[in-house]
Amino acid sequence: MIRSDTHVHSRQSHDGKLPIKELTRLAKQRRVDYFCTTEHCDFDLQYGRCRSPYKWKFLDIDKYYEEWKAAKSELDNDKNNTLTLCFGIEAGFSAKGTASEKYAEVIAKYPFDVVINSVHCVDGREAYFRSFFLFKSKCHAYGDYLNAVLASLDAPYPYDIVAHIGYIVHGAPYRDKALRYADFPDKFDAILKGIIARDKALEINFHHDMAPGRDIVERYYRLGGRKVCYGGDSHRGEICEHFEQFVSLIKEIGFDCYYIFKQHEAIRVEL
Ligand SMILES: [Zn+2]
Ligand SMILES: [Zn+2]
Repeated sequence: MIRSDTHVHSRQSHDGKLPIKELTRLAKQRRVDYFCTTEHCDFDLQYGRCRSPYKWKFLDIDKYYEEWKAAKSELDNDKNNTLTLCFGIEAGFSAKGTASEKYAEVIAKYPFDVVINSVHCVDGREAYFRSFFLFKSKCHAYGDYLNAVLASLDAPYPYDIVAHIGYIVHGAPYRDKALRYADFPDKFDAILKGIIARDKALEINFHHDMAPGRDIVERYYRLGGRKVCYGGDSHRGEICEHFEQFVSLIKEIGFDCYYIFKQHEAIRVEL
């Protein structure tokens, strides 16, 4: 079976560790057929009036593109190569400020294969950190997060994948942290129907725990959603680390394929 990962970070992301050529070397070792570097593009924090308790270096897209092209041409010059390397970004959504205009600009300028639409900030604050949850009940914090995911579907720039629904769970201080379909059925239905109506792909992300959870992926399938993709979201070269888990999950639910992207075109991969 073709093994693919549409969500990978290199050292070009502030929290990624490895050069892209090192990622291609590891990917070959791991029998990966396709992967896409999707570096953090945090215009939500840079231009979108969102705040984070930590400051980090923003992506230099020109530098990223140069490093990516060098890794790509090394693969192209190897006549025995079977690995496909694609070029993408993970775009942190903010409806405020000029984040959307900036995304539209860079997406038009660079030949991206994949744009991942991610919600990291909720009501103007990065939700990865405990400080986000101060004085908020689980219902309040998670409800606000799902509203932000729903709003992100209307991002006024081209995107392909809706990432890690459940990102909010990571930093949550609650004893029972799980984000369940049954607790927010109307919000989830609006999001899942929105993804289907816009013909976007739902990512199943394996960075922390699986996000979204099985109950949500099952609901997506029941509503008619068929476009899923594997997002390892690795930062240290663990490309396709949970791919087998992904395949058995989606097969059990009923999917007969998953998707990868080239030049924003969704390509069906049979299971
Ligand atoms: Zn993310
Ligand atoms: Zn990521």
